[in-house]
Amino acid sequence: ICFKNVSFHYQKQDKYLEVISDLNFKIKKGERIGIVGKSGSGKSTIANLIMSIFEPNSGEILVNNKNLYSDDNKEILYEWRKLISHVPQDPYLLDKSIAENIAFGIPLDQIDLNKVKIAAKQAYISDFIETLPKKYFTKVGDNGLRVSGGQKQRIAIARAIFKNSKFILFDEATSALDNSTEENILSIIYGLNKEVTVVLLAHRLSTLRECSRIIEINGYSDFQISETQEFFKKIKK
Ligand code: ADP
Ligand code: MG
Repeated sequence: ICFKNVSFHYQKQDKYLEVISDLNFKIKKGERIGIVGKSGSGKSTIANLIMSIFEPNSGEILVNNKNLYSDDNKEILYEWRKLISHVPQDPYLLDKSIAENIAFGIPLDQIDLNKVKIAAKQAYISDFIETLPKKYFTKVGDNGLRVSGGQKQRIAIARAIFKNSKFILFDEATSALDNSTEENILSIIYGLNKEVTVVLLAHRLSTLRECSRIIEINGYSDFQISETQEFFKKIKK
């Protein structure tokens, strides 16, 4: 995915304030890349631009060299949306079975349970599910079934794996977790199939050590992209 001179502003009542100004970067297929910056610097805005929730006001976003917002080919945008998944800080679970939460959007009687189990295993949530009274058919919120933050994130990761996403964006996905749960989630993220491109938004820098590159935002139009090792050398000083 490639950002070319991308600018974006939220529409305010009487003035325009550019949150993202003339941003350029490229993320290669299969890359793990981190985006860091203070709260309010624009990380979630960039995430929403990548996820095509927001459209840039100027500039282009290209996927495999094709403009997402081409007037001639609207399919590109829909294809991109089918390929991507978002794992937010506090994933939303439906008040339905675990299986329906993983095979999101598929009616229960049409779900390929084997495929759900494979995704759950890869997201290291299958052991937990197997301990539940109705296993994959246990309803979230049923009989006082309490799902912790880390378990919700694993279910969201299983959902992304089930969808066969080629691009997964984690928005500060581990910041609400305790250290050992965070370590577990990080090893799942970094262990994902190398075909999958991963973007991690973070304010805790330690979570980015296995990324290949880091995009640092200091607000407005101040962006820097560095190799991870260089980034950590620089912030040590
Ligand atoms: P981060 O995720 O790095 O904390 P955001 O991308 O959420 O930053 O926000 C970047 C800037 O855009 C902030 O100044 C924020 O106040 C502003 N902003 C975010 N969302 C909106 C919105 N819906 N309307 C107006 N301004 C917004
Ligand atoms: Mg944010």
